[in-house]
Amino acid sequence: MACLFCEIARGAIPAQIVYSSPEVTAFRDINPQAPTHILVIPNRHVTSIADLGATDADLLGRLFDVTNELARQEDLLQSGFRIVMNHGANGGQTVPHLHLHLIGGRAMTWPPG
Ligand code: AMP
Ligand code: ZN
Repeated sequence: MACLFCEIARGAIPAQIVYSSPEVTAFRDINPQAPTHILVIPNRHVTSIADLGATDADLLGRLFDVTNELARQEDLLQSGFRIVMNHGANGGQTVPHLHLHLIGGRAMTWPPG
């Protein structure tokens, strides 16, 4: 079965893209949980954070570079933001393609529900 986020990364399914490069795509979450809610994904299919290791250091660096730049563009550096990466059912992962949530624009609660 086709992967939803692979399809978004290659432009086959529309999304509100806010960043794209050969390695990384970022787009607005379809069901935002805060004024800013952006998903940052690797273009190549990686199922979850549990599949990443030391050999993926370059990719992880790129994901965080893009995230920090988007946080700056969204004016979140001073007010603060949260990065979330879910794995598996208990973690709340619903799309099996690695993604990083960049969430900001309101105060977050802790611990997460
Ligand atoms: P997770 O629950 O961590 O797997 O996050 C998946 C996220 O993808 C959820 O926040 C969804 O709202 C979001 N999502 C699902 N389908 C789409 C889509 N077509 N475009 C943008 N975001 C989506
Ligand atoms: Zn995929």
